Amino acid sequence: MSKTLALTEELIALSSVTPQDKGCQARLIELLSPLGFACETIESGGVTNLWARKGTAQPLLVFAGHTDVVPTGPVDQWTSPPFEPTHRDGKLYGRGAADMKTSIAAMVIAAEEFVHANPDHKGSIGLLITSDEEGPATDGTVIVCDALKARGEQLDYCVVGEPTSSEVLGDTIKNGRRGTMSGKLTVKGIQGHIAYPQLARNPVHELAPALADLVAEKWDDGNEYYLPTSWQVSNIHGGTGASNVIPGTVVVDFNFRFCTASTVEGLQQRVHAILDRHKLEYDLVWTVGGHPFLTPKGSLSDAMANAIKAETGVTTELSTTGGTSDGRFIAKICPQVIEFGPPNGSIHKIDEHIELRFIDPLKNIYRRTMENLLL
Ligand SMILES: [Zn+2]
Repeated sequence: MSKTLALTEELIALSSVTPQDKGCQARLIELLSPLGFACETIESGGVTNLWARKGTAQPLLVFAGHTDVVPTGPVDQWTSPPFEPTHRDGKLYGRGAADMKTSIAAMVIAAEEFVHANPDHKGSIGLLITSDEEGPATDGTVIVCDALKARGEQLDYCVVGEPTSSEVLGDTIKNGRRGTMSGKLTVKGIQGHIAYPQLARNPVHELAPALADLVAEKWDDGNEYYLPTSWQVSNIHGGTGASNVIPGTVVVDFNFRFCTASTVEGLQQRVHAILDRHKLEYDLVWTVGGHPFLTPKGSLSDAMANAIKAETGVTTELSTTGGTSDGRFIAKICPQVIEFGPPNGSIHKIDEHIELRFIDPLKNIYRRTMENLLL
C-alpha cells in the first residue's frame, strides 16, 4: 500500500473536528523527527500548532496546512462512517479526505522521500501545521506566524496544501485570495404613524437612493490577477411588523470581497462619502475579516507549475478565486505564498472524498517542488 494513502487513512481515523487535533500532529512528529526535523508545539487558547524545521540555511521552503476538519453533518446521511476511511469506486471516503488530510500526508511523505534521496540538499524545509483553520482561526497559523516573526525566522516560499484543483489534480494553483470586509449600517429616521408622515422621517425612503448609488458604484477594475472588487448586501431589516408604523431605523448588512486594487481605508472612505452625500443620519460598524494577498507569477509558482506538468502533464492555471485561507496570515511574513492541493468538489460535504489515483501524484508534485527549489 502507498505510504501516503496509509498515512492519510490514519489521519482520517482521528476525528479531529475543529479545533481538535486528536493526535494528528503527534503522529507527524513521530515521522518528521527521525528525518532531522526540529519539532516544536506552539499552543494557544487550547489549540495545538506544530512548527517543524529541518536545516538552518536559506532559502526556507514551508509547507502549511491544517489537521482540523469541519463537522460531519448528519452521520446517517454518510454512505460510510465519516471517520472510517473507506474505498469505493476508486475513491477514498472520509471527513478530511480532500480538506486536507491527504495534503498533510503527502507533504510528510514527500519530505521523507526528498530528504532520503538528497541528504545534502540546500536550504531548509519547514512544516507549519495548525488545528484551527476551519474555526475562528485566531489561535492557529496567525499565532505561529507572530512567533516566527518575533524570533526573526525568514520564510522564502510557502505552499499551503488547500484543495485548489477543480476538475483534475493540477489544473489550478491559487496565487492569492481576495480580502473580506463587512459593514453593519444603521440608518436613523423618526418613527411615527403612517397616516402622519409629516411628523415622522422614513429611514427606508432616505436609504433607498444611497443604496442605489452603492450598488451602482464601480469600486475598481480588478487587475491582472483579480476580478473587480464586489459589494453585496446580505441582510436588510426595517419595520416594526405593524403596517401602520413608519420605522425609526433600517439596518443593512453588507460585505466587500476586495482585491489588491483597493484598500480597506479607501473603500471605507468611499462608502462614507456616498452616505454623507445623501445626508443620512447613520451609524456604521466595520469588520475586516481578512486582507487580500497576491503572489505574482515567479520562482515559487514556476517551481510548482513545472512539478505539476512533469508529474501529470497538466498545464496549470493561476487563480485568486474562492474564500479566505490561512495564506493571508503567512503572506505577511513570506514573500511568495501559493496554495495547491487536490480537487475541491466534495469539501465540507457529506461523503467527502478524493480519487485514489490523485494521492501519490500529489505527493510527487510536492516532492518535485522541493527538488526544483532546493537542489
Ligand atoms: Zn482546508
